[in-house]
Amino acid sequence: MNRQFPIEQLRKLPTPFYYYDLALLRKTLSAITNEVAKYANFEVHYAIKANANPKVLSVICESGLGADCVSGGVVRASLEAGFPSDKIVYAGVGKDDWEINLGLDNDILCFNVESLAELEVINELAALKNKVANVAFRINPNVGAHTHANITTGLAENKFGISMEDMIPIINKTSSMSNVKFIGLHFHIGSQILEMDDFVALCHRVNELQDLLDEHQIYVENINVGGGLGISYEAPDSESIPDFEDYFATYAKHLKLRPYQTLHFELGRAVVGQCGSLISKVLYVKQGHNKQFAILDAGMTDLIRPALYQAYHQIDNITSDEAIEVYDVVGPICESSDVFGKDVRLNKAKRGDLFAIRSAGAYGEIMASGYNCRALPKGYTSDELA
Ligand SMILES: *Cc1c(COP(=O)(O)O)cnc(C)c1O
Repeated sequence: MNRQFPIEQLRKLPTPFYYYDLALLRKTLSAITNEVAKYANFEVHYAIKANANPKVLSVICESGLGADCVSGGVVRASLEAGFPSDKIVYAGVGKDDWEINLGLDNDILCFNVESLAELEVINELAALKNKVANVAFRINPNVGAHTHANITTGLAENKFGISMEDMIPIINKTSSMSNVKFIGLHFHIGSQILEMDDFVALCHRVNELQDLLDEHQIYVENINVGGGLGISYEAPDSESIPDFEDYFATYAKHLKLRPYQTLHFELGRAVVGQCGSLISKVLYVKQGHNKQFAILDAGMTDLIRPALYQAYHQIDNITSDEAIEVYDVVGPICESSDVFGKDVRLNKAKRGDLFAIRSAGAYGEIMASGYNCRALPKGYTSDELA
């Protein structure tokens, strides 16, 4: 049993739903801003695709972080949440015309461009509006990361970014285009990365590319190293805040930033991952022949990470302190992958108990679907329940 949850208030709400502990979110944001303040030219953008719940976004926006967007819908969400347009950056391999126009109309800080074809379209659309769009090139650094294959993005085989060999030619190309201005380089090697050596490898690659740019007398204002810092899914209570000190110090130590440059970060999971839990009710405890199942009213439609990435989430029975038993915790969806955890040790469960599926603040609510004609889960914050 985990006593940190406001059980009485949670009991009143229809399950399943996401519950966000905004006190933890604020502590996490302070940890980030305190670390960043140690460095003169570091800036953090929150990767909105991790969680775009408006109440969560407004807390993040208040903290002064910028916004990292990956679609027109996300750009719109960032503007609605109040992020200033000069702190909005937009990456994505397939930006549609309306999405580019939305960015142009709102004078966002930068388009992180992923191909020559896209650069040409941005230049044309900006010309129609008599604007000059700031662009950074997303370079595929061919750096791996010790994480799940589905969330590795910086290998040559991945669809993301422009290859290193094409970097100088595409930068040179911009000087002949009147409606785009080259302002930076962008990288993002993947997500849920816990080994600082992966970020060190990225720093080394950026240093090499910067030396090459120096040889060509090309000056770059902004270096954006993306996000990817992981969280502890194993210990959401004792490791509720990621080690931001080590993360930023790693970049300060290994990336040779030029004195006139700003270093941008795009953190998603590390900001919101630990503050969210999926709260679900036990519908049935079913005795199998060699297993017992706790069948929840939440399923993979509410939280797809276990089914999609074989992700582990700690599960707590927050309404029982009876002796521990072992359960397979499953959802109601007609898919065998609709399992939140196998052989999970939990306080003895009965119909009506509430389970908290922990560390679900990132890539949880935002990835929910309507499969099986199910309603999307709602999100509630500690502030509204207090
Ligand atoms: C998803 C994404 C991020 C954030 O990744 P996290 O692992 O959540 O920190 C940052 N930048 C880009 C371009 C992304 O697509």
